[in-house]
Amino acid sequence: MTDLILETKKLTKEFLGFVAVNEVDLRVRRGSIHALIGPNGAGKTTCFNLLTKFITPTAGQIFFNGQNITSEKPAQIARKGIIRSFQISAVFPDMTVLENVRIGLQREQGTSFHFWRSDASLEKLNDRARELLAEVDLLEFEDHVTSSLPYGRKRALEIATTLAMEPELMLLDEPTQGMGHEDVDRVTQLIKKVSAGRTILMVEHNMNVISSIADHITVLARGNVLAEGDYRTVSTNPAVMEAYMGT
Ligand code: ADP
Repeated sequence: MTDLILETKKLTKEFLGFVAVNEVDLRVRRGSIHALIGPNGAGKTTCFNLLTKFITPTAGQIFFNGQNITSEKPAQIARKGIIRSFQISAVFPDMTVLENVRIGLQREQGTSFHFWRSDASLEKLNDRARELLAEVDLLEFEDHVTSSLPYGRKRALEIATTLAMEPELMLLDEPTQGMGHEDVDRVTQLIKKVSAGRTILMVEHNMNVISSIADHITVLARGNVLAEGDYRTVSTNPAVMEAYMGT
């Protein structure tokens, strides 16, 4: 099996003649934390939307575990194990933390929104949900109403609901955005922890986060790959510095 879990070949997206993503070749190594960075408008979100087939590429191909998935539908892609972290708005605010993870598990099992279950199967779901909450250090909050959680903890819950979908490749969209130092540190360590046995592709702006956990970085600018490599390589690349200064 190839050591690349995800590969794109000349992935391209045009919006009415405007090229948002231009012949992008991404190579994401299995088991790595791979960061996708670049100034605003670089095409990062468009790339994520293409990888989950939220939008359709104009040209190019996407391979997952060596298999061409370019023409697959979003649900098939999720079933194969490419899961994008849910936005906080997709976590039900009035439900408890445990209930939210349980819903993620029910989705994974294709029994979404069946609230009625036998006691035995409910207990099994609760056990698995608690394992996931323990993984993201939220077990002590299991009975809390989700809306009452501090911001950083909500992001941890979002990661737990993503884990419930059994991702092989997790796409994290600015996981530390809007956080204070303490939460940034906690979520950074959490990403490192949950990366064990999984692969993570993340859009992230915080260079401290990237330098501390990213194994590989792809820099996009105006839809093109500008540079790639480890933190040292890309952070000393004059073209990268210029792209950032220019915004
Ligand atoms: P980033 O996430 O790196 O900030 P985006 O992927 O959101 O960049 O956007 C890349 C470019 O594509 C931007 O110039 C943006 O205005 C444009 N774009 C994104 N989505 C659309 C769309 N649905 N229609 C037209 N232009 C779009």
